[in-house]
Amino acid sequence: MRWGETGDGDPVHLYTLANERGIEARISDYGGIVTSLMAPDRDGRLVDVVLGYDSLGEYVEDATYFGCLIGRYANRIALGHFTLDGVEHSVTVNNGRNHLHGGAKGFNKVLWEAKEQRGENSVGVRLTYLSPDGDEGYPGNLLAQVTYTLTEGNELILDYAASTDAVTIVNLTNHSYFNLAGHGSGDVLDHMLTLNADRFTPVDGELIPTGELRDVEGTPMDFRRPTAIGERIDHPQLVLVGGIDHNFALSRGSDGMAFAARVHEPLSGRTLEVSTTEPGIQIYTGNFLQEGKTGKGGRTYGPRGAICLETQHFPDSLNKMNFPSTVLWPGETYRQRTVYRFT
Ligand code: BGC
Repeated sequence: MRWGETGDGDPVHLYTLANERGIEARISDYGGIVTSLMAPDRDGRLVDVVLGYDSLGEYVEDATYFGCLIGRYANRIALGHFTLDGVEHSVTVNNGRNHLHGGAKGFNKVLWEAKEQRGENSVGVRLTYLSPDGDEGYPGNLLAQVTYTLTEGNELILDYAASTDAVTIVNLTNHSYFNLAGHGSGDVLDHMLTLNADRFTPVDGELIPTGELRDVEGTPMDFRRPTAIGERIDHPQLVLVGGIDHNFALSRGSDGMAFAARVHEPLSGRTLEVSTTEPGIQIYTGNFLQEGKTGKGGRTYGPRGAICLETQHFPDSLNKMNFPSTVLWPGETYRQRTVYRFT
């Protein structure tokens, strides 16, 4: 469906992926944004579980990253600076002194080329974008492809791929804000969170990882057993950044898919499970959302009104030699797969 147009007059579309069980995702070729995601509760009642806006114009103006794809580099790069193969690079500084989520015009603010896909038990849309050499300061022409697939097994699968013609860095993710009671239904403090992570990356006051990989044992970051988000959120370590805004290092046996997170909303019974090929997941409880922010259907959102489950490599990895590498060389293919499954 045609949704509107960009400032340059290019048409923007919305694609609807629906399965037999009532799950329905709407995805835009602008920013690869998941604008709505209908999911059933234990009695089959459907509500939209992601925060967002009604109009394209609001997404164009948006600074919260509702639902979008993040690229070329998820989360922060300290001082917007890194060295790659002996060459220094500076990327756009757009968050205090640092670089955040791909810069001023990241993958969330560009028009992707879309192609609908149909499988035996799934429907999907494949998005392609060529980010030119020098885009926001990043080296190399980067060809990125992200496919959203909705299956009859209630999975929304995100397959990411990228290749480059010069050595570069890449770290892609999706920035959906989930509230399993329904968007705009208050905070998520009673959502139960389980994380398959025995370590996390502590941050400084600017949300840059210190480089340490700290054991969660005995800290408020231990979510290895289901824990209500609100039980932990006022702990001094979380007060530093206004809530949870941390990258967790997943405990994985080998490469390939690993269970990352489970979020359960007790009243509705909705449960979302996340698995991924990535080494980390950024848990962000919408701490920077403004109180009374107007979203879809006139609903209002506020701080901790959602949880983001951003599967990714660790923030600022390129400046932390002990973190898994985010470097991509010509001839290599970057791949990541994340599955969001409603149970
Ligand atoms: C980051 C937050 C940031 C937010 C922007 C999250 O991924 O971890 O620090 O403020 O994105 O919406």
